[in-house]
Amino acid sequence: MALRLYNTMSSQVEEFHPLRAHEVRMYACGPTVYDYGHIGNFRTFVAVDMLQRFLRQSGYDVHYVMNITDLDDKIIRNAARDGVTVQQYTAKFEKAFLEDAGMLGIERPKFVRATEHIAQMADFVARLVEKGIAYRTDDGSYYFRIAKFPQYGKLSKKDFSGMLDGARVDVDEYDKDSARDFALWKAPKAGEASWDTSIGPGRPGWHLECSVMSMQELGESFDLHAGGEDLVFPHHENEIAQSESLTGKTFARFWFHVRFLLVEGEKMSKSAGNFYTLRDLVLKGYKPSSIRYLLTSVPYRNQLNFTFDGLKQAAVSVERLRNFRQRLSAGSFAAGANPELQALAGETIGAIRAALDDDLNTAQAQAAIFEMVRRANSALDAGRVRQDDAAPLLAALEKFDEIFAVLQDDDGPKMKQVFDWAQTEGRGPDISPELREAVQAGRFSDADIEKKVAEMEAARRARDFKTSDSIRKEIQAAAGIIIEQTKDGIRWRRK
Ligand code: AMP
Ligand code: ZN
Repeated sequence: MALRLYNTMSSQVEEFHPLRAHEVRMYACGPTVYDYGHIGNFRTFVAVDMLQRFLRQSGYDVHYVMNITDLDDKIIRNAARDGVTVQQYTAKFEKAFLEDAGMLGIERPKFVRATEHIAQMADFVARLVEKGIAYRTDDGSYYFRIAKFPQYGKLSKKDFSGMLDGARVDVDEYDKDSARDFALWKAPKAGEASWDTSIGPGRPGWHLECSVMSMQELGESFDLHAGGEDLVFPHHENEIAQSESLTGKTFARFWFHVRFLLVEGEKMSKSAGNFYTLRDLVLKGYKPSSIRYLLTSVPYRNQLNFTFDGLKQAAVSVERLRNFRQRLSAGSFAAGANPELQALAGETIGAIRAALDDDLNTAQAQAAIFEMVRRANSALDAGRVRQDDAAPLLAALEKFDEIFAVLQDDDGPKMKQVFDWAQTEGRGPDISPELREAVQAGRFSDADIEKKVAEMEAARRARDFKTSDSIRKEIQAAAGIIIEQTKDGIRWRRK
């Protein structure tokens, strides 16, 4: 079965086929690096990460490009306010974004930066002027004449036919009702950054940046363009207008938009006090893996209601998967195979694939893996697991994790990174006791603990309980690690 995806352009779920066999060219609008990313931003980035992971798992060669918007109205304003250059202003937040993305297991796309493509952007404007689609105003700004692109509105399904030709808007973000000829290039303003180019001094508008960079990296027509739902209008509508009026070709075939994340049922806002960056949550003691898992747990086309109960539940789910993997890989089983479990592993792989093929139904894929874990755990409890069953069950778990990416237990070092950052950024008072405890426990890596547990087991076998007890105390002193003696041997887990 082929992947079926919702395409905002057609307003339908369609079979996804790339323009070139075996190769997918996709572009996602990346972060505007004027502040730390919030969990809503990361919902979108995680969803696109899962999409590209799944395309690769499906056998495609994926060329995935994401821009870093290091130049827009907000950045210009803040850099001017702080009296620093645009690059000085954005460097810190770009670094933070890359760290946060890594913390959430987001695989690195090819990153492109607006400030590194200014000359190409000016050239793009010049070509639009040559075609009579863009025009220059007296102050040296350039605008896109939307009357020259009759299909304007085809993505957002808004009818702009009655619009006043020549009325202009020069801010990057605006609502549908104020749609006008939009700024491609903004003339310099006192105290604001500008560049000298072939079309005169100034700076590009945000919409132009993405058209230029995506086409440069992926060609005039490519397979998929992604972003959060708020980008449909005006950003993506304007990208389409610029690109298609220049090339006469379809810009992107599929438009993939992620619904917004709400917090406890409400829009995130600083004034409502429900605005969370990724780092805010880690400071509270939540693990990056729990946050990723929660962000993946609702299919991307449904609104995600972020709650702290949900986050706690996500932590339990991740722990359950990790414990199951440990139980299977560390257990010793009688020779042979149990056909029921062999079939279960195969069916689970099929069910995960079918769920994701169905417009990335991540919730269904998670349900499939948990059904497998439930049944395999009861087989383990009943001693019905044989030696040859572990590998296929682990393989199903691996397939799941190629997309969901939560099994590797590297939360400790990641939390330590946030802990250190908080100290240097004056956010020490925000470090919760839970984060302190987790960082303490993280002093032991999984491999360290495995080694200690093996030593403990050897000591117990030799009936050297004194040594075994002292090792137990040593590990448990690193608060947050629980050691249990079970009939399968010693098991440990992090709290
Ligand atoms: P920005 O850094 O503002 O350019 O946004 C980066 C990405 O996050 C864009 O794709 C936005 O559409 C997306 N985004 C912003 N807020 C939310 C939210 N609450 N939920 C999901 N995605 C969001
Ligand atoms: Zn964009």
